[in-house]
Amino acid sequence: MKIVAWEDLSSREKELLTEAKRAATRSKHKRGHKIGCILLTDRGKKFYGAANEWTRPVGSTCAERMALDQYYFHRLDSKVGRPQLIVIIGTFNRHEWSNDLVCTPCGVCLEMMLKMKRDFALKRLALICSNWSQTRILRAYLAELYPHPRFR
Ligand SMILES: [Zn+2]
Repeated sequence: MKIVAWEDLSSREKELLTEAKRAATRSKHKRGHKIGCILLTDRGKKFYGAANEWTRPVGSTCAERMALDQYYFHRLDSKVGRPQLIVIIGTFNRHEWSNDLVCTPCGVCLEMMLKMKRDFALKRLALICSNWSQTRILRAYLAELYPHPRFR
């Protein structure tokens, strides 16, 4: 797990992060939160997500969950491949939020990613989580985002 700069990303990673930021602008949130996600498979397929707020918070969809759900829907299609990397970027319209802060998955999304890792017997799942300005980027494996080794 490491914080890196934009310059440290490969050109492919820069493209993905740019696309995820574009996806974030499709978020539907009354307070203006914008979160975008791309799930990339080992065969180069991309599944996109953006935050979608419904009236009841419990029914709202995180960008990550939207991307994961789309992957699950298409998982049986030929040549889809297996999840390899999840790219996340976001900004929140909250007074305590700053665009220097890195947007990372919420607890529910972490659980779903762990379930996906198990469902597809993935050795590991890489994440790239960025601040909105794309100046601070967290590279991590899912296991590193869990505090207890039991969940790794
Ligand atoms: Zn979430």
